[in-house]
Amino acid sequence: MLAQALFGELAAYTATRNWQYVYPVWSRRAQGISIGINLHPNHCCNWHCIYCQVPGLQRGPSPVIEIARLQAELEQCLDWISTQAGTHGPDLPSGDLLSPLIQDIAFAGDGEPTTSPQFAEALKVVSHSLQQRQLAILVRLITNGSQLQHAHVQHAIECLHAIGGEVWFKLDAGSDAEMRAVNDSHVPLALHLQRLQTCCTLCTTWVQTAIVSRVVDQQLITTPALPAYSQALMALEDKIAGILLYGIARPSQQAAASSLQQTASSVIDDYARELRAQGFQVRAFV
Ligand code: SF4
Repeated sequence: MLAQALFGELAAYTATRNWQYVYPVWSRRAQGISIGINLHPNHCCNWHCIYCQVPGLQRGPSPVIEIARLQAELEQCLDWISTQAGTHGPDLPSGDLLSPLIQDIAFAGDGEPTTSPQFAEALKVVSHSLQQRQLAILVRLITNGSQLQHAHVQHAIECLHAIGGEVWFKLDAGSDAEMRAVNDSHVPLALHLQRLQTCCTLCTTWVQTAIVSRVVDQQLITTPALPAYSQALMALEDKIAGILLYGIARPSQQAAASSLQQTASSVIDDYARELRAQGFQVRAFV
């Protein structure tokens, strides 16, 4: 409750700032306050997911990040939370006030974080800030996984591991056709799974999967189709930390939005049950 009240005040404060890279949100999946880091304020991504909530999403290069500005925004955000948390009185544990209130600092935003040539540098800024303040806040990378073949990205993810962070790796498909339909990605599924495997060797990695329902030719199709999806993941069952399943909570901002339907919570529960029966650790968010 305290974190929710604090988030309301934080959102009001944030609205008065002109931050470009730092955006606190209430995260359904992290279940609390998440401080987002957006390396793509230009709304450019190398994928074009059917459910993407980024308005004006386009393909294009990553922008140059003003690292000093990112650092200043993060410091302001942490300063504000620290000050406000201190005024909420005896409900709070003493000492490190922030860590219990903030679920994570998450690289996510309006594009794929690892396509930014400055991702590693931005990660260093976050890591340094947490170290200076002696904060034990989890750092997450929420990624579509498309850049895991690059040595510099692998190295950055090793650095994430070194600070106790974790990766949420997008897998919305159990076939090449589903990757094209849902993510507008022409990467073969087998190659994407190789990248997932690489990621697992570098850092704790959760698979994050959107259960997407859409109407095609007047038929409701829900993806990823089982059992193809679970079979695709089976070889990595003991390498991934688990699977995060979720439906689409906020409206898509993409042209195909009208074909999307809310996935019933019972359907997400069915997926979770089926995957658990196969031995996967699953967290479902309906
Ligand atoms: S990878 Fe993320 S930012 Fe990129 S299109 Fe998909 S949902 Fe949007």
